[in-house]
Amino acid sequence: MSNCFILLAAGKGKRFKSKTLKQFINYKNKPLFMHSLDKAIKSNLFNEIIIVTNNKIKLRNNKIKIIKGGKERYQSSQKALEFIKNKKFNNVFIHDAARPNFSINLLKKLKKYLNKNKAVVPYINTDNSTKYANKKKVVNLKREKVMLTQTPQCFNFKTLYNLSKINKTLVTDEATLFLNNNKKVKFIKGEEANIKITKKSDLKKYPIKTFYGIGFDIHRLIKNKKLYLGGIKIPFHSGLKGHSDGDVILHSIIDAILGALRKKDIGTLYPSNKNKFKNIRSKKMLKPIISDLENNNFFINNLDINLICERPKVSKYRNKIINSLSKLMSIDKNIINLKGKTVEKLGLIGKENAIACEAIVSINKYE
Ligand code: ZN
Repeated sequence: MSNCFILLAAGKGKRFKSKTLKQFINYKNKPLFMHSLDKAIKSNLFNEIIIVTNNKIKLRNNKIKIIKGGKERYQSSQKALEFIKNKKFNNVFIHDAARPNFSINLLKKLKKYLNKNKAVVPYINTDNSTKYANKKKVVNLKREKVMLTQTPQCFNFKTLYNLSKINKTLVTDEATLFLNNNKKVKFIKGEEANIKITKKSDLKKYPIKTFYGIGFDIHRLIKNKKLYLGGIKIPFHSGLKGHSDGDVILHSIIDAILGALRKKDIGTLYPSNKNKFKNIRSKKMLKPIISDLENNNFFINNLDINLICERPKVSKYRNKIINSLSKLMSIDKNIINLKGKTVEKLGLIGKENAIACEAIVSINKYE
């Protein structure tokens, strides 16, 4: 199955009243459109990403193509569909750059429903009493029946392409094309935070929330075992004893993340009495936790680590460990700090019979 993500960023945003177009304004530490783009990339769902814009953007990524938009939204969308018509994509996702707060989970959910449908569209209900102004009078609508539709919306490419080819009228989203032509749309629950940034005051809704977590771990050193720290093998006279590979750095990071999310601890997630986790590499324990973070709009913005041991010397392996952590956690190297701490030859650690580690992580929720 091949999927294409179309990001519509050609709007003029008249209601936004700003010199900088709203899709390029700084929002939660980056240009607004980048939120959607980064999530599309991180989801790993897409073979190609098309950005439709009338502005100059330079991005270095082979998967991304930038094309010029039309005057109206539906024209930009038509142009993008035309651009990819010979690329044989099965599915296409269309998203408005003005909605930066959706989660990767939503993308995955949409994709799942697309297996059995030709159009899948997220919606939310409203808490307001709703009325509809007819030509003659204002009528009351049943609130529970009112659906506010959002993007990303996803479609079987061929079906959408054919509908968009015959359409000549102004439609505000692709779901309308399906409904106007009596074609079925599967509506699924959307996300409250996935608002459309229209006015300047919308920027202040759903501010970034920051969470902190702390983790600590210690393992005994034993002969005839390999030493793993931060996901890599380190040459040493002993390795760390444990149910898994005993990687104290990864274990304290896992606990720090679970702490920030208030999800108990590593022992609850990976009980040591369970055989299936015996000798498991800690990398494997970390992976689902990182995906869970990203899928739910949490992003790590700082990680500080104290590795407490007499030897090996941290300075010798610092860069290697940081590179490994950066890869495993898909975060920038610049937000990781690793400190080495000796204990003046005191106690178990001082006699090189154990290694301990503490980690503190700071995590932003971007919705
Ligand atoms: Zn441990």
